[in-house]
Amino acid sequence: MTGAEGVNFCTVRIDDSKCTYCMECVNTCPNGALTYESSVKCFMHNAYECAYCEVCIDVCSEECIEILDM
Ligand code: SF4
Ligand code: SF4
Repeated sequence: MTGAEGVNFCTVRIDDSKCTYCMECVNTCPNGALTYESSVKCFMHNAYECAYCEVCIDVCSEECIEILDM
């Protein structure tokens, strides 16, 4: 999907059956687009802040992150 200013939006899917909750993806995201809300045990992805850089995918040792077009 393309936004009004030509920005491509995407979302991040995390396979929780493989995730070890190491937080490497959250801690290395250069834009702070990926966060973890411990009170509800949920990852949050901010598509407006995401640069689609795939750093989160690269640092995940469990290979459980996918980036999907919205
Ligand atoms: S880096 Fe991978 S295993 Fe670690 S919290 Fe993120 S998705 Fe889960
Ligand atoms: S693709 Fe890049 S900017 Fe987007 S959530 Fe992953 S590390 Fe952060």
